[in-house]
This record gives sequence, structure tokens and C-alpha cells, in this order.
Amino acid sequence: MASSDTETFAFQAEINQLLSLIINTFYSNKEIFLRELVSNASDALDKIRFESLTDKSKLDAQPELFIHIIPDKTNNTLTIIDSGIGMTKADLVNNLGTIARSGTKEFMEALAAGADVSMIGQFGVGFYSAYLVAEKVIVTTKHNDDEQYVWESQAGGSFTITRDESEPLGRGTKITLYLKEDQLEYLEERRLKDLIKKHSEFISYPISLWVEKTTEKEISDDEDEEEKKDEEGKVEEVDEEKEKDEKKKKTIKEVSHEWDLMNKQKPIWMRKPEEISKEEYAAFYKSLTNDWEEHLNVKHFSVEGQLEFKAVLFVPKRAPFDLFDSKKKPNNIKLYVRRVFIMDNCEDIIPEYLGFVKGIVDSEDLPLNISREMLQQNKILKVIRKNLVKKCIELFQEIAENKEDYAKFYEAFSKNLKLGINEDSTNRTKLAELLRYHSTKSGDEQTSLKDYVTRMKDGQNDIYYITGESKKAVENSPFLEKLKKKGYEVLYMVDAIDEYAVGQLKEFEGKKLVSATKEGLKLEETEDEKKKQDSLKEKFEGLCKVIKDVLGDKVEKVVVSDRVVDSPCCLVTGEYGWTANMERIMKAQALRDASMAGYMSSKKTMEINPENSIMEELRKRADADKNDKSVKDLVLLLFETALLTSGFSLDEPNTFGNRIHRMLKLGLSIDEDAGEDADIPALEEADVDADGSKMEEVD
Ligand code: ADP
Ligand code: MG
Repeated sequence: MASSDTETFAFQAEINQLLSLIINTFYSNKEIFLRELVSNASDALDKIRFESLTDKSKLDAQPELFIHIIPDKTNNTLTIIDSGIGMTKADLVNNLGTIARSGTKEFMEALAAGADVSMIGQFGVGFYSAYLVAEKVIVTTKHNDDEQYVWESQAGGSFTITRDESEPLGRGTKITLYLKEDQLEYLEERRLKDLIKKHSEFISYPISLWVEKTTEKEISDDEDEEEKKDEEGKVEEVDEEKEKDEKKKKTIKEVSHEWDLMNKQKPIWMRKPEEISKEEYAAFYKSLTNDWEEHLNVKHFSVEGQLEFKAVLFVPKRAPFDLFDSKKKPNNIKLYVRRVFIMDNCEDIIPEYLGFVKGIVDSEDLPLNISREMLQQNKILKVIRKNLVKKCIELFQEIAENKEDYAKFYEAFSKNLKLGINEDSTNRTKLAELLRYHSTKSGDEQTSLKDYVTRMKDGQNDIYYITGESKKAVENSPFLEKLKKKGYEVLYMVDAIDEYAVGQLKEFEGKKLVSATKEGLKLEETEDEKKKQDSLKEKFEGLCKVIKDVLGDKVEKVVVSDRVVDSPCCLVTGEYGWTANMERIMKAQALRDASMAGYMSSKKTMEINPENSIMEELRKRADADKNDKSVKDLVLLLFETALLTSGFSLDEPNTFGNRIHRMLKLGLSIDEDAGEDADIPALEEADVDADGSKMEEVD
């Protein structure tokens, strides 16, 4: 192929690595290369068909849309030809070697972690699977906007590109694989037929295999001679001689070639659901998505009436590696109009939160030449979208009927459901029914809100929840003490997105969702309890004032709590502000909008537990002497500890550390003046006040 205008390019480093991996590692599943190449051919055909909808002349160079597969046992090559969009020279350079997809590295990592090579398609590097079976690959391609070019590589670090004047393709791409010696099975007709059936049955363009036809023909010896004569042009004698000697016969084999159409089935969505087996759906799902696993659930339905469409929707078993990659264009629902593929990245056909659902929609009503811009405004599409969302939710509800399946589903896609609660007010209630949480009473299982409601105690009006970083971090939180004591169940919401979702949800089946860590937690009380609480409030009023004075702006107010039972105190946040958990999340997101942090960031209220012995002691001291220095020091320590137990972070962890160290010394009866201060140098300076108040005064 080398000629004067041959250019050589180096493979991008990661691609090169991938190629070595493909060539040098043993994989048992090499056959998937054909599925990948056929899938690329089909994509290329989709693209030119889409372009031709608005400009018919785009098909002029080659009006037919097809995929041809040609095994050649003489040269040990397998060739795949499509009349798709083709590639310009720049496309060749970029797509086949110099620009690595984000999936390149991810795929190698997945392989290293034990993934199967058949997953290659999902990572957007399927083309390179050709090197599973080929030692050399030649890609000849012609795009409407450029000349015909040839790409050639035996891997090994580089590829070449040459302008090509030989056999014009018209338009499209021809990929010739020079098969490795031990891969010649891919020239066998039977093998190829099975493979195409298995992996590419649902490709919506005709796939034809170049097959050898051997016909046996009975002829007489004379006839044999006659044929020779025939070739020489002596036709006239034939009939006479045949009559002369009819009994002298023999059979010869005539070998001819012809195209054999491989995919004769009509599209699966046009068939009746009751006639389609689970295996057929699985095969369709796999060919649609490149997934190597079967789907988790499927819904095949048609909508009739004023508007007509058919659809098949699938829920995968796993989330893809790039589920929430914002750069990734959505391409999970393929849109067809009257059997013609229109596009697979129509953003408006399904809401973002359902972006993980795969499938196809075939509309009877949309115009064939519809553009992306028109689709955005299109009323028909809006109706389709509404129906798809409804059916998706039905799909999820069906999955929820099987605990094991639902656990898998929830693990993979709960974030999407919560995103949906946030965004989709119409379906919020239905989506809320699909939520599952661990709770103070759920044990290892997760509970639905519905089940929670059935377990609510007499006199319990609200649904209680606590948000935080993890189940571990919240399950022993001081905020839960009173709720637990009263026997009220509390949901653990430990996904960052829970904060947003619960903020939108607000209630379920008429029951308010109440945060255990915010102000406004009102628990039912008996008359006696109320009386007791009132008298405690009065008793501790003085201490509350003293604490507020010590803490100043650090807290909004200090009140007597009715939610803590064991801990001395906790810090709650305003009903409409951020929780401690939200503050953590927002800090982690490196706030885009600083002003937001100003008014949303948690205004903290300190709630003290009047029945805790530390508080009682503090009260006594404060009542005896408002300016008792030990009170001040202890209040600061209590405040900082409460920050931690309430889920906030410390602004000055060192100061806190020093206070603790001083406590430790006390506990170990080390005299602070014994000259060991070198170990804790910042002790005095770090203290908030410089008046040298001493912790010894505690007790
Ligand atoms: P993906 O199909 O996920 O994009 P591949 O590695 O299979 O990844 O293919 C890389 C790119 O090469 C494709 O996106 C496409 O631009 C180009 N390509 C591959 N095969 C063909 C083909 N038969 N016709 C046109 N372009 C092709
Ligand atoms: Mg591909």
C-alpha cells in the first residue's frame, strides 16, 4: 500500500496500550469483533440516512444502504463493507488512532479488574477489537466530503493513511481483516452465519453474506464436451449430439457465489409481545446496547388512538461507568419514524433522570425529515415522553415486586429516582413509593415509606429522618435519642442527593417528613411531660443565657431540648436552612455561589439536655456565679464536641485538640505547671481567653 503520498501516524499512547493488551492477552471471547464492526457499520448507515432525510442528494454516490460480509479463503481475509457515511481523512486520523476516547483507559482498568473483552463496545473503543483476530487491518473509506482514503495498520505503534485511487466505493467503508493463522474459523460460512444471528440479528439494515453455492448437476460426457464446444461457440451441434447418447452421464459440481440475506426478521417492536421470547428480548437488548449482560426488565407496548407509537424499554442490570458524566450525550432511546431510524441522541424524548433506561421508540406520526430543533417544540414528542415516563415507572414498580432484583436495581439507580423526585413534580409521589431507606427499625433491610407509615406509633404524626454522611455516622446521633426512646422510627438518609430530594418531597401520604436535626421537631407530650418540661425550662433559663453569652455569634440561640436524652447537648439547624450534612456537601462542592452560603449556611441553635448531669453541674455553678471561669471553658468544649456529634466540622480543630489534651492531663493527674508544656505548645495561646482559666476547676 505504500506509495509516495503515504503518511504515517503514531497511535495515541493509551490506544497503543489498549492495542497491545488486545493482541497479547488471551481472550476466549474473540468472536465479538464482528458484532463491533457490524455495529459501527450500522451506526455509519444511520448517520447517512439521517442526513439524507433533509438532503436526498447525499445518497447519490450510493443510493443503497447495506452491509456486506465477504470471507475470502484464498487470501485469508474477512471483509466488511457498508455504504454508510464513511470517513474523511481527518475522521480517519482522529477516530482510528490519534484521539483516545474517555473509555480507553476505563476499559483497560475494567479488563485489569477482570472484565470481559466483550464489554469493549460499551467503552467506545469497539473498532480495536478487530485486532483480536486480525494481524493487519485495512480500512478503505469514502465520505461525501472527501476523497477515498486507506488506513492501514498492523498495530505496533503506528498506522498509515494513503489516498486511494483503486476500486471506488462510491460512499461508505470497507474493513479488511487479515486473519491471524489461528483465527481462520471466521472464514467458515456456518460460523459466520451463527455469529451474525447471535449478535447482529436486530441490525436494521440488510446484512448479506457472500456465500459459496455448490450445485450438483448431472450431465453426460458428451454434454461435457459440448460445453467446451459451447465456449468455443459451436452451439449448433448441441441438440443433435444430446439425442445421440443420453445414457452416458456423470455429475459435476458447479461452484458459484451469491449474497445471502442474514436478517430477515421484521423489527422486534413490530411483532406481538406475546410471541417474543425472553431470549429474543435479551438478544435485542444486547445488540441495542452492547451490554454483555441481559436486561433486568423490559416493557414492550404500543400506544394507539390520536397518536400512535410503539416502544420497547429496557432497564439494565448495572449502571454504566459514565452514568452521571455530564459531557456524555444521551443516546439511550433510539427514535424511529415509521421504521426509519432518526436519531439516538434526542434529548427531549426522556427526562435526564431516566437516562439509564434503554430502548427504542417508533412513531407513526412524526415527519420523517424532522430536525433536532423541531423536535424540541414538537407536541407529539411531548406526549411520547409523558408515556415513556409512565411506562418506566411501571417497569420499576414491577421490579420492586421481587426483593432481590429491586435491591440490585436500587443499588444501581437510586440516585436517578431521587433526581426524579427533585425534578419531576408530576411523578413525585409515585417515585417516592420507590424509595428505600435503612432506619432505626429496618435492621439489615431497607424500608419503603409506605411500610414506615404502617409502623407509625399511635400519636405519631410525622415521618422522621436524619441526614448524614453514612449509616454509621447517624445511627448513634444524639438527635435520635428521644425519638428512639419514644419508639419512633427514624429513616437514615445518607446519600448526598437525599438532602435535595427530601427537600422537594416534604410529605408522604399526608405525613410530613421531619428532620431530626432541625428546629421544629415537636414530639407529642402528655400533660405531665409538658409540665415537667416547663419547669425545667424555667430552671435552666439562667444557664441558657450564660451559654449564649459565652458562645456569642457561634449560635443563634440556646434552648432547653426535648429531643436529647443521654447527651448533654446538640446543635440543631433552622427548619429552612441547610442541615449539617448539607453544609458538608456544599463545602465539598467548592461553592459556586458564596452568597448562597451566607444565608443558607446553618444557623445553629444549641439545645441542652436538662437531665444530663454535666448540664446540672454547670447550672449550679452558673447560678452561683455568672462569671465562673470554669463554666466558660466547659461551655466551649461542649460546643465543639456538639459540633462533631451533630455532624458539623470544626473550623479550628487545633484549639479543640488542645482543650482535650488539657482534659487528658487532668485525667492522668499531670500537673500543668510541671514544665511539660512543651508537648502542647499552643495550649495557652490557643485558648479563647487569655485569663488563664484552669481546667482543674472542673469537678
Ligand atoms: P464507537 O462505535 O463507540 O464510537 P468504535 O471504536 O467502534 O467506537 O469506533 C470509533 C469511531 O470510528 C466511530 O465513532 C466512527 O466515527 C468511526 N468508525 C468506525 N467504523 C466506522 C464505519 N464503518 N463507518 C464510519 N465510521 C466508522
Ligand atoms: Mg463501535
